[in-house]
Amino acid sequence: MSEASDEQRVVDLVEQLLADHPPKGSAPKDFLGAQFDAGLAWVHFTEGHGGLGLSPKLQRTINERLAAERAPVAMARNPIGHGMGAPTIVTHGSDAQKARYLRPLFTGEEVWCQMFSEPGAGSDVASLATTAVLDGDEWTVNGQKVWTTLAHLARWGMLIARTDPDAPKHRGMTYFVVDMHSPGVEVRPLRQMTGEAEFNEVFFTDARIPDVERLGEVGDGWHVALTTLMNERVSIGGGIPPREGGVIREALDVWRGLPEPTADQVAERAVQKDELTRLWIDAEVLRLTNIRASQMRSVGTPGPEGSVGKSLAADHNKKVLDFTVSLMGAEGMLYTSYEMVRPEATMSWDCPQKAFLRMRANSIEGGTTEVMKNILGERVLGLPGDVRTDKGVPWREVPRN
Ligand SMILES: Cc1cc2nc3c(=O)[nH]c(=O)nc-3n(C[C@H](O)[C@H](O)[C@H](O)COP(=O)(O)OP(=O)(O)OC[C@H]3O[C@@H](n4cnc5c(N)ncnc54)[C@H](O)[C@@H]3O)c2cc1C
Repeated sequence: MSEASDEQRVVDLVEQLLADHPPKGSAPKDFLGAQFDAGLAWVHFTEGHGGLGLSPKLQRTINERLAAERAPVAMARNPIGHGMGAPTIVTHGSDAQKARYLRPLFTGEEVWCQMFSEPGAGSDVASLATTAVLDGDEWTVNGQKVWTTLAHLARWGMLIARTDPDAPKHRGMTYFVVDMHSPGVEVRPLRQMTGEAEFNEVFFTDARIPDVERLGEVGDGWHVALTTLMNERVSIGGGIPPREGGVIREALDVWRGLPEPTADQVAERAVQKDELTRLWIDAEVLRLTNIRASQMRSVGTPGPEGSVGKSLAADHNKKVLDFTVSLMGAEGMLYTSYEMVRPEATMSWDCPQKAFLRMRANSIEGGTTEVMKNILGERVLGLPGDVRTDKGVPWREVPRN
């Protein structure tokens, strides 16, 4: 079929969805369930798995029309499941796993978390030490994960664990789906500088995972993890807000609310306007770059463009919010509450001051900016690789802290 007729088909299906399930009168999970069943969840996934096997470009058409009707947004309810879990399951999962997990993940009935980082393994996540040992048709897991976003809400977790300590680090890992409610899985809150605890520590003590919950082959966990990681970068840095949406809106709102400058403020205001204009242009360039990247992307693992977008977005968000709180003067230092809460969403903010604090983490979460630059240098610019002293060395023999 031609691109135009695919688009018409999608447009018709969206209108049918809206007619049958008006967003105002429908429970979010029912609306999202109907969206999934219509193949409008991830339009590039295959039929029966929330898609129609069409070009990913068409997802934007769907999302924009649904946003105009204020329909519920799956990503907001389950960001890690939606942005990272689903592409990993669809690429590496069995048919039974796709049938079991994708729909409740999309509706937000089952929240997902990602358990990669450990106290001794962050940027170098392949050095991780949590172990999984096969015992009959189950694996026994022991170890600790850290910075696990939304683990306190999660029904399922994506886990990579060491299954062969004698293999070099990238080859001795296996990837699993973990039932976060199973015995031996303990979740404890970790507080961040906004006062909230979006993330957690997760401890595994003889937790059991059925072998059917493995994603990919034994020892091939790194390959599966790359699908998650590359999608994570897109998920964090690849957002496509409407023009003047996202963090630049915070700056514009504050700017538009400023009182007329006094005579001695006029020169300073002109400089600030110049700065705001530059930031506005950067926001628009980033938005257009992300639109282009999303149109080039197909199902599965995005390329290094996700890392480029992620590091640019991290830097941009910080600059915009630095500027915004400085525009606010002394009010920029005020903050409503540091009470510890375990939120239901990630990266949410209700005031520029909170956004300022939260976005500091953008250059760490999902891989640091330095690591993104390494990927950019090696995979885009073709520069020599980072120094790797443990290449080919069995994991067991690599010194660790
Ligand atoms: C808000 C937030 C949410 C998170 N959520 C999750 C989650 O849900 N699941 C999960 O598994 N993890 C999560 N993380 C963890 C995140 O992925 C790690 O923090 C990140 O990968 C960095 O690891 P690290 O903190 O151990 O820092 P380290 O790896 O110890 O890095 C320390 C410093 O060294 C630099 N560095 C390290 N290696 C290199 C290198 N090769 N070249 C140049 N510089 C280098 C880093 O850039 C950094 O500045 C989250 C983190 C944050 C902040």
